[in-house]
Amino acid sequence: MNVTIKHSYRRGEFHQFASSDRRFLYLVPAGAIFEIDDPAARVIDRLGKGTASHQELMEELAAAGMEAPDAHELIGELFGARVIGSGEIAPTALANPPDDFPLQSLVMNITNQCNLSCTYCYEFGQDKIATPQGKPKYMDLATAKAAVDFLLKQSAGRKAIHITFFGGETLMNFPLLKDIVTYAKEKTAAEGRTVDFSLTTNATLLTPPIVAFLSENEIGVTVSMDGPAELQDKRRVYKSGKGSYAVVEPRIRHLIANHRTRAITARVTLTDGVTDVVRIYRHLKDDIGFHEVGFAPVTSSSEADYAITGKDMDSVVAQFHALADEWLEYALQGRMHGFTNVSDTLSELIQGVNKSHPCGAGLGLLGVGPSGDLTPCHRFADADAHTLGHVNTGLDRAKQSDFLTKGHINAKYDCQTCWARPLCAGGCHHEAFVRYGDTGHANLHYCDWIRDWTDKCLRIYGAVAAHNPGFLEKFAERKALS
Ligand code: SF4
Ligand code: SF4
Repeated sequence: MNVTIKHSYRRGEFHQFASSDRRFLYLVPAGAIFEIDDPAARVIDRLGKGTASHQELMEELAAAGMEAPDAHELIGELFGARVIGSGEIAPTALANPPDDFPLQSLVMNITNQCNLSCTYCYEFGQDKIATPQGKPKYMDLATAKAAVDFLLKQSAGRKAIHITFFGGETLMNFPLLKDIVTYAKEKTAAEGRTVDFSLTTNATLLTPPIVAFLSENEIGVTVSMDGPAELQDKRRVYKSGKGSYAVVEPRIRHLIANHRTRAITARVTLTDGVTDVVRIYRHLKDDIGFHEVGFAPVTSSSEADYAITGKDMDSVVAQFHALADEWLEYALQGRMHGFTNVSDTLSELIQGVNKSHPCGAGLGLLGVGPSGDLTPCHRFADADAHTLGHVNTGLDRAKQSDFLTKGHINAKYDCQTCWARPLCAGGCHHEAFVRYGDTGHANLHYCDWIRDWTDKCLRIYGAVAAHNPGFLEKFAERKALS
């Protein structure tokens, strides 16, 4: 029996890219990458000129020499994979995570005190949202233990949990950190589970005994550092205004030489006048010896005097591309490159990430401040307006739900037609609050940059998939490092 198919087809929702003479689609509803062959490309190109009936597509494929049964099957496959569709394109609504989504990571702000006064710091600078008045400056042992107990309870069902120590300057409360590492290891072992630790530090207080402890306990270390002396000392300064490079440089060299159990990474904050990405990378990776270096433009309102403006941002983008090209050269030779920004994005693409929320904040990850207040992440520490409960009394589910509903991709109207949304999902909640006064607002100031960067990493994916596909396996299970 002949069945007449009356569908009128249109293109599905995807981003096309080419790499190494091959054509690919990044399919938005699935967050997945497909290489397309000539017949599929023919269908897509035909639909690029406007809608077409089933019969018209069949004729298009017949003209290319395809037998009718094969053409019919191909159209069905493309339809099933949502590469082509019929009717209006309606963005696929991603489901809400379940209410009892288990916690995995706790970021413990073990102090809100810092021995530096970095002028762009979100905790102390112009965009500060913390309200620390009347609250403890250092987390005490009882609160820290309660935080670990809270994490264990809320992560029931997960074999492995993660604790990140944060500040202020984390190492200003090193005695507590030591106690908590011991406590968390004992408690998790008693439950037949494992715990993994990391910390972020400005490196000013690193000493040989601290480094030995971090290495023995396999604690991952991210150092906040902005590059060679003249760049580091622009904004990473002591309260006196004195730069910190001379203090941190020998300490970091000691850390890298003696912390043998985990990779040591640098995180650079780009600000006005600190935009020399390639030079910073060379210094931190090749001279100092960091395993990886990741960059992020400062989070700030557009008026902040340290914000990066138009022309400088263009230069940052160009330098990101130059380092990304170098990353690709290394990959094609089977060598790892240390530019974190490519490695992190590529791993998300390979894992087919399709986010309902931009990050784990408020979901699989929570922050806990020195007082024991729970927040969506460390950047909201001590900010009363963003508290989601307390480690002693538990999560306020109504507040958590409100935060997550606002931050869900479905609630971000501007993102509904954006092909980059599986990875971006509107961007950082904290940055959204600083910029727009609303944690659920899409970070529309950087959309062009996000789409450009995602496209760059897709093309890197295509080139590696064509010439050294086994190399991609290294990123299949990678978690973002910073
Ligand atoms: S914030 Fe911009 S780049 Fe990100 S998903 Fe929304 S529209 Fe796309
Ligand atoms: S992306 Fe923003 S909201 Fe999410 S964890 Fe990082 S700082 Fe917090």
